[in-house]
Amino acid sequence: MRKTIVVIGSGAAGLFCADGLVARGDADVILLEAGDDPGTPPPDWMRTDLATPADVDWGYVDADTGRPLLRGKVTGGCTSTNSAAALRGQPWCFDEWNIDGWRWDDVAPAFNALENDRQFGDRPTHGAAGPIPITRLSFGPVDTAFAEWAAGQGHAWVEDQNAPGVLGVGHWPTNTVDGAVRYGVHQALLPGLRPHLRAGTTAKRLLFDGTRCVGVETSAGTIDADHVVLCAGSVETPALLLRSGIGPAADLAAAGIPLVHDAPEVGANLQDHPWTVLQVRAADPEAPGLRPVNGVLLRYEILADDRVEVHLYPHQAKPYLPDADPADVFLGLGLMRAISRGSVRLAVDGTTEVHLNHLGDPQDAKAFDLLLDDARAALDALSDVLIEPADAWWRADNPPPLESYGHLVGTCRMGTDPGAVVDPTLAVAGVTGLSVADASIMPTSPRANTMLASMMIGLRGAALVLPE
Ligand SMILES: Cc1cc2nc3c(=O)[nH]c(=O)nc-3n(C[C@H](O)[C@H](O)[C@H](O)COP(=O)(O)OP(=O)(O)OC[C@H]3O[C@@H](n4cnc5c(N)ncnc54)[C@H](O)[C@@H]3O)c2cc1C
Repeated sequence: MRKTIVVIGSGAAGLFCADGLVARGDADVILLEAGDDPGTPPPDWMRTDLATPADVDWGYVDADTGRPLLRGKVTGGCTSTNSAAALRGQPWCFDEWNIDGWRWDDVAPAFNALENDRQFGDRPTHGAAGPIPITRLSFGPVDTAFAEWAAGQGHAWVEDQNAPGVLGVGHWPTNTVDGAVRYGVHQALLPGLRPHLRAGTTAKRLLFDGTRCVGVETSAGTIDADHVVLCAGSVETPALLLRSGIGPAADLAAAGIPLVHDAPEVGANLQDHPWTVLQVRAADPEAPGLRPVNGVLLRYEILADDRVEVHLYPHQAKPYLPDADPADVFLGLGLMRAISRGSVRLAVDGTTEVHLNHLGDPQDAKAFDLLLDDARAALDALSDVLIEPADAWWRADNPPPLESYGHLVGTCRMGTDPGAVVDPTLAVAGVTGLSVADASIMPTSPRANTMLASMMIGLRGAALVLPE
């Protein structure tokens, strides 16, 4: 009899996974999405604006700081609400996972297959036939001044920031079209998948017969399944497992959830890239070509012994602060190799709690301090171009007001050891009929924005998920 596969979540990984499963043709595919489907063509906010409307966000906060933690709740997931920076990780990010089948040489073909690189698609390290357009935006005067400063500091000029192993200053690769319009999986893959989509349908918990997953309880009733693939992202995927009885036995007992499988690491190992912005103003408010997003990127290793990579880049503030003047500019700072680990847990009332634990490890705090020093030096050198406010917090001895860069991974860690939540075929350990294929499986974060790596996992996941 024909099998039914339920994919939960239509984000970066979920749409690639569902697309591959449908193309495989050996099972009926049902795609659940808690958020709405705003349709085709997408609404203006999805195409042009980075300020996410409140009703397409899950509304999480960092439980330790109370700061908002944005997560897209809409078809396309976070790719419909993110900043369209399309950067791959370094080869060593994947080699470090040290998992057969997931080293750089194994995953690079999937990075190539998902992209249509408008500048470098004809090179062997790129692709030109994938659904996601990749392009680089031209520089405005702030980008140019910043690139010249970085070159003066000895950073290499990088023609292609997605070439394997490069470090230095160059154009941000972006998944944009027509100058700056975000183009994520909603536009690229959803139109062909709409017959399979059940939008506005929240998966509440997984249903088990013993340790065999047999379906999903949703906000619109129960769905029987031969196989379920969790693509709900690094917060909701572990939360669903916990609510369904797969997690640390003592925590589940305390929450009154019947145990299906004791999996101590579900929700542990949460990684993010701590991020902050220094808000300044362009000296020439009429400066032509100030990019709304993602013009120039400097990436370098700030603690070279541990390959602790950082991002430093100026961009227009307006997409993030809708009331901002076009001359308002952010200097963005991202720590791309963090050692600190946070967690996703169930609170006693059953709600989901996220603890980011940014800079919890002293090495991360040291690296971020050094990055702030470099950012201050950049602003000193760029004072003809960028004006600082008189009371700039970064000139006083204040701790940085850290935000999430949006790059949550690791909460359902893949591995071959007994603690791993999923094995290298993405099957959840200790049960059958259940896989995870999203950002949560990454054992450690790539030193890059995490959308392309999540897409890579979804694309590869479609071939790995095999209903029994
Ligand atoms: C504000 C922000 C900016 C970012 N900027 C960038 C960037 O510029 N470049 C970059 O590379 N990365 C960026 N990222 C990160 C990147 O978008 C994510 O890493 C990537 O989308 C993760 O893919 P995913 O498939 O794991 O999860 P998601 O894309 O989050 O998809 C998960 C989907 O599952 C759905 N879902 C969750 N729970 C349920 C449930 N119970 N039932 C049904 N559906 C459910 C969600 O609504 C969502 O649609 C950003 C993230 C954020 C939040």
